[in-house]
Amino acid sequence: MRRWLLFVLPVLAWSLCAAALLTAPSAVPADVPLPVEETPAPSSTPSGGLIALTFDDGPRRSTTTALLDGLAARGVQATFFLIGKQVAEYNQDLLQRMDAEGHQIGIHTYDHVMLSGLNAADFSAQVDKTRSLFQSILGHNGFLLRPPYGSTDPAVRSMAGCPIILWSIDPEDWDDQNADRVVEHVVSRAKDGDIILLHDIFPTSVEAALRIVDQLHARGFYFVTVEELFAARHITLEPGKVYRCAYP
Ligand SMILES: [Zn+2]
Repeated sequence: MRRWLLFVLPVLAWSLCAAALLTAPSAVPADVPLPVEETPAPSSTPSGGLIALTFDDGPRRSTTTALLDGLAARGVQATFFLIGKQVAEYNQDLLQRMDAEGHQIGIHTYDHVMLSGLNAADFSAQVDKTRSLFQSILGHNGFLLRPPYGSTDPAVRSMAGCPIILWSIDPEDWDDQNADRVVEHVVSRAKDGDIILLHDIFPTSVEAALRIVDQLHARGFYFVTVEELFAARHITLEPGKVYRCAYP
């Protein structure tokens, strides 16, 4: 069972019980179980739903490490779309750490190039090479693809070999690298099923991401990986298809 389900289901069960008690107390059978003490207390506001944090362009030793530390302290898993060259040359241990800590791994090409317009050989040198690298380091397969700049065309979709994941909230954190603005942009728009795009190569984006987690946690959101988000909506991700969100 998914880890978030372990938390969501008790809360859901509690909510259903509470609703029944509030709306029709006389109709409640005597054997309806009361909430047990160890049931996690629901937040003061109703659950905000599920949301996926995604990070592009990493890993970068200093910033990605700080982000992983912050996410671990909060019990949050995210999805990282990584540049193959940066993993191969400097950061194989960071990839292993992400995988070990439950984060999802995706491909963001080997050299951060636009995939649209590439021939099959050049596409393979960007996507298949990165996939093989990650597989050799982690010992498993199943990596999503996020094309740089969100650029896709029919050829990219036919050659992808895996689901293509874009996003529904983009604060353009790379532009002014202003944590306050990024936090406000994301928190004011966040809704159930969103996929948030950030870049874990800027200290301001790491700061913003952790503040976003804290503020959306307080509003009852649960953070999940992209795979978990779509699984929760009973959507099977298919190779070559493009996904931007998983609204209920
Ligand atoms: Zn990128």
